[in-house]
Amino acid sequence: MRPRRAAVFSLHTSPLEQPGTGDAGGMNVYIAQTARRLAEMGTEVEIFTRATSSDLPPIAELAPGVLVRNVVAGPFEGLDKNELPSQLCAFAAGALRVEARHEPGHYDLVHSHYWLSGQVGWLARERWGVPLVHTAHTLGKVKNASLAAGDTPEPRVRVLGEEQVVDEADMLVANTGFEAEDLINSYDADPDQVATIPPGVDLDVFTPGETRTARAGLDVPADAVVLAFVGRIQPLKAPDVLLRAAAELLRRSPELRSRLVVLVVGGPSGSGLERPEALQQMAVNLGIADVVRFLPPRAGDDLARVYRAADVIAVPSHNESFGLVALEAQACGTPVVAASVGGLPVAVSHDTSGLLVDGHRTEAWADALGALVHDPGMRERLAANAAGHAARFSWNRTTEMLLDAYAQAKLMFNARLRTEEVTA
Ligand code: UDP
Repeated sequence: MRPRRAAVFSLHTSPLEQPGTGDAGGMNVYIAQTARRLAEMGTEVEIFTRATSSDLPPIAELAPGVLVRNVVAGPFEGLDKNELPSQLCAFAAGALRVEARHEPGHYDLVHSHYWLSGQVGWLARERWGVPLVHTAHTLGKVKNASLAAGDTPEPRVRVLGEEQVVDEADMLVANTGFEAEDLINSYDADPDQVATIPPGVDLDVFTPGETRTARAGLDVPADAVVLAFVGRIQPLKAPDVLLRAAAELLRRSPELRSRLVVLVVGGPSGSGLERPEALQQMAVNLGIADVVRFLPPRAGDDLARVYRAADVIAVPSHNESFGLVALEAQACGTPVVAASVGGLPVAVSHDTSGLLVDGHRTEAWADALGALVHDPGMRERLAANAAGHAARFSWNRTTEMLLDAYAQAKLMFNARLRTEEVTA
């Protein structure tokens, strides 16, 4: 029942981009990690993404058995994410053209990521006669229910598009039970159509290591108290919550000032607070510019070094469908203080591998961060459990579960085909 070759649609962002800036984040990591493993388990993968530079080759190999196809659809540069719906037809035409160059049955499954790709997946499902599996990653209705100040609501066109994809997909993949409930309750998905599959973490890259060595690599003193934020700089991710809480910690414990280091790692994404200069100005206004350091996005070992160097990683997001950063930090043996939203209560085990905070009040965040900073016993207890908690999530397990969902999608597809034949 395993597909021989899956077409994976990732229209709005390429798995070859560096995550942590712009539109590249957890979804890119998810697609690249699962594609590699699908290929290792016998399913070839071709990832279709929109070409964002004329320098890109039409085809690139991401890993053995995994191709990235850069489809020309609209201008290479300068196309805002909000303008992407205008390029769905061009992207679909490009994907259909690639398939038409092969023997019929070249792809035996489509897996679309994010609603824009879902729209194209819907068409490919019809044309190629293969099952469609869709992963939303985030949902417009859910996002609009938890907007940060300064955030622009998701447009109606997205919500309508998502509803259509939920209607048309054979299987929907949710990261957590919470997301599955959102799909069922807010989007009328059939419970049998939803597979809950937790994402994973690269347990070879994100491993515990020497804090002292990691700090030396970042030019951070060995005896510093290090709080860090890792991710795209945008209002929804709320790095401002960490800055305000750090200022409050210093107000409560002025003696910390000589040792406190706040690292903000990531690049701009979206519009508004996303400009790192706005955050820098906020640090100045809060009187903590001397303790805050902004670092550009980084990959692999360089990123693991940040997690290892930190006493605590803060994930203060207003919404998060899962929160891979939280898992990666814990895999490096670093406890996480996270907002109790979206998938974060799954990614972080409260009072075992980190702390969950209700809401985004500065005092509550200063309390949680202060508890770990001032109570080494508690910090060590959570740190000791962190890697074990993260090890429950692996990309191999995610991929095996995806293959089960693909098999289920085939059954659902055949059942729908039979119903359509009867009613035709
Ligand atoms: N990331 C990275 N380099 C950075 C910052 C982030 O590679 O400098 C990656 C990080 O490792 C994680 C992803 O970006 O895998 C962010 O995923 P998450 O689920 O936390 O948030 P999203 O960006 O999907 O909203």
